Order: sequence, then structure tokens, then C-alpha cells
Amino acid sequence: MIYFIGAGPGAVDLITVRGKEMLEKADLIVYAGSLVNPELLHYAKPGCVFLDSAGLTLEQVLAAMAPAAQEGKVVVRLHTGDPSLYGAIKEQMDRLDALALPYQIVPGVSSFCAAAAALRAEYTLPDVSQSLIITRLEGRTPVPPREDISLLAAHQASMAVFLSLGRIGELAERLLQGGYAKDAPAAIVYKASWPDERVFVCTVGTLAETAEAHKIQKTALVLVGDFLKPQYSRSKLYDPQFAHGFREASP
Ligand code: SAH
Repeated sequence: MIYFIGAGPGAVDLITVRGKEMLEKADLIVYAGSLVNPELLHYAKPGCVFLDSAGLTLEQVLAAMAPAAQEGKVVVRLHTGDPSLYGAIKEQMDRLDALALPYQIVPGVSSFCAAAAALRAEYTLPDVSQSLIITRLEGRTPVPPREDISLLAAHQASMAVFLSLGRIGELAERLLQGGYAKDAPAAIVYKASWPDERVFVCTVGTLAETAEAHKIQKTALVLVGDFLKPQYSRSKLYDPQFAHGFREASP
């Protein structure tokens, strides 16, 4: 059996209990060495084989995992955060389907959740935004033109931008084109939940200079939106004047 496991955002104790249990049972762990905290590998049993996928192709990853799984070994494919976001797991699963090899997915804590925790923020505030847009600038991987940051920015919803620190000036430009003011609130969260986590609260207009001043080039998220401001309305759920299925209204 092959398990695709979300390693969480970085801190070793932010992997799920199920994910940790699979690491303890694994005979082979193929991990994304560029982002996964190597300390997670300490959960593995003696004799477990480790393979860093950072320098491998899809074919090489499959060539390592498939025979081990066919021999009945427990194979873990360890992805950073949650595997469903920018994890390139679909292409692996399709190859495994073609080989009729079974697999399961164990979700993980995505870095956008750890970034909100680092900021002590809530993405979905009443009267501010009830949506979170998860996106990226195009790189070698194209982004459909209808999802251009300037178009998404027009919604003024909370936004978590992955994989885009390398072109943060361009990112800021597109946010401005989409209607954000230069002084709209933004933040850069570097290595959320890692021991060297850093949080920079800035504005859309100062994103590029903030990244440059602190030499932040990768392993960071850009957050944008009024959810970073102090103003919002209180929730209806916990408002004494509103009743719901679990609580009656207070007089
Ligand atoms: N599946 C992962 C994302 C992988 S793409 C997840 O759910 O988080 C890699 C990008 O994720 C990085 O370029 C960066 O933008 C972001 N990232 C991953 N870990 C991070 C962390 N601990 N802090 C901030 N950003 C992180």
C-alpha cells in the first residue's frame, strides 16, 4: 500500500496522528526534501529507506515506489502541507491506477492555515470577507488566464498566494491592477510554524520592498485582504440575540 501523506507546514508536531502512525510503519519514505521538515523522518522505524524526491522525475519516483508496494511494503509519499494543494499527486495516482496499485491519502495542515495562526488572523470575517482565494502567480506552471491575479483581486476576498515570492513585484502590480489600493493590508509569512518562522505585516504597495529588505525569496506565503485590518462585525453564531439549532436567543 502507498500512502500520500500531508506532512503539515513544517513543525514536526503539526503532522496528523494518522500521518505520524504511517511514518512509523513505513518501509520506504519518499519525501519532498525541498520543503518537508527532515526531522519528521525521525518518526520512521529502523531500517526504513528514505528517498528525497527533490532531484527526481515523476518516472523515478514511480520506479522507486511501485516495486516496493508490489512486494507488500508500506510506502509513504510525504508531501508538504496538504497534498491536494500544488502537490502534483494526481499524476502519481494516475500512474498507480494504471499499475493497479492501491493507495490512500492522509490530509495535512496546509501552510495557509499555519500562516493564519502565525498572524493570529481569521480569513473569514463577517462584513469583511466570507471567501478565501488560494492562488499563485504563473511560473513554469501556467495559470489559466481567467484566474489572473488582477481578476481574482477584483473580488477583494481574503487571498493566500503560494509560490510567488520570486516575482513579488509583479504580484503587487497585478493586485493594484485588480483594484487594491497601495495601502491595502498585506502580509508575508515565511516558514510558518518552523522555528525560524517570520511574519511581516505590510501593505500591497510595500510587498516587494518588505520581501527584499528581509531577503525572503521562498517558503513564504503572501496574504492579502481586509481580514488583516482590525475592523469586522461580530459573528451571528455567538450573538446572544440570534437563536440557532443549538442555542435559543437570550431575552
Ligand atoms: N501543499 C503545500 C503547498 C506546496 S507549494 C501546502 O499545503 O502548504 C509550496 C509553497 O507553499 C511555497 O512556495 C510557499 O508558498 C508555501 N509554503 C509551504 N510551506 C510553507 C510554510 N511553512 N510557510 C509559508 N509558506 C509555505
